[in-house]
Amino acid sequence: MNILLASSEVAPFAKAGGLADIAASLPIEWAKYGQNPIVVMPKYGFIDTDKYGFKLTDITIVVPMGYWHEYARLWEGYLPNSTVPVYLIEHNIYFDRNGIYGDPIEYGDNDRRFIFFSRAVFETAKAVNFRPDIIHAHDFHTAFSMAFLKSYYNQEWFFSETAGVYTIHNLAYQGWFNPSNAMLYSGFGMSQFYQGSWFEKNTSVNAMKIGIMFADKITTVSPTYAKEIRYPYYSEGLQDELNLRGADLVGVLNGVYYDEWNPAIDDNLYLKYSDGQFEIKQKNKLEFLKEHGVSAEDNLDLPLISMVSRLTEQKGIDLITSKLEYYLSEGMFRFALLGTGESRYTDFFRYLGWKYPNLAFVNIGYDNTLSHRLFGASDFFLMPSRFEPCGLTQMYAMKYGTIPIVRIAGGLADTVEEYNLETNKGSGFTFWQYNAEDFEASIKRAISIYNQQPHWDNIRNNAMSNNFSSAKSALEYLKVFKWAIEKVR
Ligand code: ADP
Repeated sequence: MNILLASSEVAPFAKAGGLADIAASLPIEWAKYGQNPIVVMPKYGFIDTDKYGFKLTDITIVVPMGYWHEYARLWEGYLPNSTVPVYLIEHNIYFDRNGIYGDPIEYGDNDRRFIFFSRAVFETAKAVNFRPDIIHAHDFHTAFSMAFLKSYYNQEWFFSETAGVYTIHNLAYQGWFNPSNAMLYSGFGMSQFYQGSWFEKNTSVNAMKIGIMFADKITTVSPTYAKEIRYPYYSEGLQDELNLRGADLVGVLNGVYYDEWNPAIDDNLYLKYSDGQFEIKQKNKLEFLKEHGVSAEDNLDLPLISMVSRLTEQKGIDLITSKLEYYLSEGMFRFALLGTGESRYTDFFRYLGWKYPNLAFVNIGYDNTLSHRLFGASDFFLMPSRFEPCGLTQMYAMKYGTIPIVRIAGGLADTVEEYNLETNKGSGFTFWQYNAEDFEASIKRAISIYNQQPHWDNIRNNAMSNNFSSAKSALEYLKVFKWAIEKVR
């Protein structure tokens, strides 16, 4: 199967969240299954082309935009340690910037940038003579490609047998665009924009809706989220569209690329460890504490709870800010944070780091190595999300024997099972109601297990032996792709 994956983020070249990890791991797994994937993404100014071995090709593509054409050069490289080709689309006015979506405030021309990209994907396929069976688009940034496929490109022989699959990673970001601009850039024109058309939502253009309506099959990143988003509480206003397309909507659980996220081979760790080697894991914790100025006179036995996260309302940061200072002042645990996001949260965490230097380790920023180290060094991983389409970090944490404390929502419900003291099954601690009391109760249950053998070893063994491999998830996608192809042929 020829699969063209189009994404605004692909790790390690450009990453803002889990989308980048998935866009990189799926194609590698598909290639292992004998499929033929390529990846297309924008050439952002910050991508280190030398480091990743990208070469400028002699191809210039011509991309129709509204009533004019724009030009872009193609760079070619590979996903690391693979033979999967990656094409970078160079259009410096749009992409030679420090951010993916903004820096830090959203760029005002994201409509134009991503409509251009969504169309350039097709011109790239033609230019490199890759006739796709599937165009796999991800989130609102590439949603317009589903409309371009059905409206323009399916009529060309080259794409006449191509099916479109659209994956929703997060409904909270929909791409609300000004109609007169978006309908112009996309070439569809205002005649196709009217109340109830596939381009219209609440008098704006909504890219997410376009992806949902035009795709042959729609997937989202966990089975529970696929159910949740049919109801208003989680649908971000798109329940009608999602229910209309309900027969074509499938939840495919995201997977972990264990060649990268595995403590036995992870060079970022202070010390590598395998299943059951908890004394080495403990050394990782002690190294981390030492590096952060905690000495032997301090109580080294306190549990270490960490977070690696975007600091947004989605991630349940309000629950944490409401009680964290109290927990620290009571000496319940140590807390480590790596994150970027809203200033109301970063200000709070910086304050805590300043006030409790021995208990709270706060790193505001983006740091891949530190993220791996935190998964290795921590006892618990906190993720009290309001909603969570899938979440990768709780799965990474478990692989590192770090026990997740999560709110049961979306992919967290599909991946974290409460530890049961009778059966010794389960590998985390969970709560459901979004309130401080239930949150606190789950933390207290977690800390009590930390102090109880053999439960503490049982739960960590359970966590490390879970299998959420991206190979499984890639296979599920291949099934969806077959259904999509059956629909168009
Ligand atoms: P989301 O996509 O909603 O942000 P996920 O859990 O699916 O959440 O994926 C987040 C990804 O981004 C993970 O790979 C995580 O390790 C990484 N990440 C998030 N924040 C940071 C940070 N500040 N530094 C390094 N990596 C981060």
